[in-house]
Amino acid sequence: MLFIDNEWVNSKSGKTFDTISPQNGSVIAKVSEGDKDDIDEAVKAARRAFHRNSEWRLLDASERGQILQKFATLVERDANYLSELETLDNGMVRSLSNMLIASTVKSIRYIASLADKIQGETVPIDGDQFSYTLRQPVGVCGLILPWNVPILMFVNKVMSALAAGCTVVVKPAEQTPLTALALAALLKEAGVPKGVVNVITGYGETAGVALTHHPDVAKISFTGSVEVGKLIQQAAGANNLKRVTLELGGKSPLVIMDDADLNLAVPIAAHGVFTHQGQICVAASRLYVQSAIYDKFVQAAVNYAKNIKVGDPNDNTTQQGPQVDELMMNKVLGYIEKGKKEGAKLLIGGKRIGTKGYYLEPTVFADVRDEMTIAKEEIFGPVQSIIKFDTLDEVIDRANNTSYGLAAGIITTNINSALQFSKHVETGVVWVNTYLASGVQAPFGGFKDSGLGRENGLHTLDPYLEVKSVIISLPKKL
Ligand code: NAD
Repeated sequence: MLFIDNEWVNSKSGKTFDTISPQNGSVIAKVSEGDKDDIDEAVKAARRAFHRNSEWRLLDASERGQILQKFATLVERDANYLSELETLDNGMVRSLSNMLIASTVKSIRYIASLADKIQGETVPIDGDQFSYTLRQPVGVCGLILPWNVPILMFVNKVMSALAAGCTVVVKPAEQTPLTALALAALLKEAGVPKGVVNVITGYGETAGVALTHHPDVAKISFTGSVEVGKLIQQAAGANNLKRVTLELGGKSPLVIMDDADLNLAVPIAAHGVFTHQGQICVAASRLYVQSAIYDKFVQAAVNYAKNIKVGDPNDNTTQQGPQVDELMMNKVLGYIEKGKKEGAKLLIGGKRIGTKGYYLEPTVFADVRDEMTIAKEEIFGPVQSIIKFDTLDEVIDRANNTSYGLAAGIITTNINSALQFSKHVETGVVWVNTYLASGVQAPFGGFKDSGLGRENGLHTLDPYLEVKSVIISLPKKL
């Protein structure tokens, strides 16, 4: 069902869609298919909840923070159930969903703690005047989520919007709608007043489009593909001028220098691309290895991939579960075929495992060249593409030779190489001697086509706030 005004309702059309198990292709649940009419209802509810005299707007900022802190406690209470649901709907291995829920609780607490630290400034304006700024919530926000890390994405966006005092309409991905609904129920239980959070499950082309074109939506925050990100930005300017933040895809380079310890570098590189079946926006999908250690590294990478345990995501020892759905699995297989055709050397993997569920073999390609499709496009699957390079200068240029700019990494024992690379690589995050490390305290987002704006960090509320200058005439200069 849809969640509007703190109530569960059917879609107006009565239509539903199936959410499918990545583990075996069976129907997990029938979910309400919201479209334009339902988005209209949800936006109306969110508008009412944003009225200056509403319960939400009249709360003290500290009370708003306390409600969100209570939400953190409820997520912690239900962590096991939420983790199970995430794995059921998404196929994420349980060890990862458990870990992500623990970090989600930290994120909620951190962002909630910012609610009563939104401060304006006094301004040293010229003349007989007194001026100060107010920082005020932007209004109703449309939050559009991807399927790859549903709980984390819901929390990053919803928490920042609510801590800033906004109201929201959330559109989860059609592949993974379930955990957003569970989290909406917890927000209600935490005491979020009606209309503040609304969740409309449905498709991008209908519900998503209606949200991005709605004249009463002041801001869109979107995480997903570059292709849809561009559509979102166009739609956001079509009626009113919506504020937009975009967290998009990547083709992230990880550089292994020849001074690196291979015992460290090989597992980091594998972790960087095989975690979550490769369905991570920052996946290390271009692996540059310096020529002196190239052959040795390739051999070790193949040995590592050979031992990755693929299977039931609910088994705590499983490292790789199924791809999210058949479409994505076939897309990855298509890239593997292209890799072979364009002359990359397939050293291990490359095939589907079994016929039930969407499992793929961990795949390693060597002798990949920058111009090959697998080195240019986001694969979003367990495919490691190893590319040879000679010098640091050369690899910085090659790393930057892409329209993406989300993340990058370098493994080296030379501090100068690490500092040079970190400064000159054109990405929103750089990892040195690690990969995928994150924390809500550190801002996250992309350069170039990988996005617009940042989430997390002390400024995570900024995209949800407007700055207002107040200028008061005085009889005498202060
Ligand atoms: P997607 O772009 O296909 O869909 C994302 C969301 O947009 C879904 O909810 C979908 O229903 C909706 N949508 C689709 N078309 C729409 C339209 N025309 N108008 C409005 N909404 C529309 O992406 P996906 O396949 O769900 O997610 C994978 C992508 O997300 C990858 O490219 C990945 O790199 C990216 N991603 C980025 C980050 C980041 O923080 N940078 C994080 C996670 C995922």
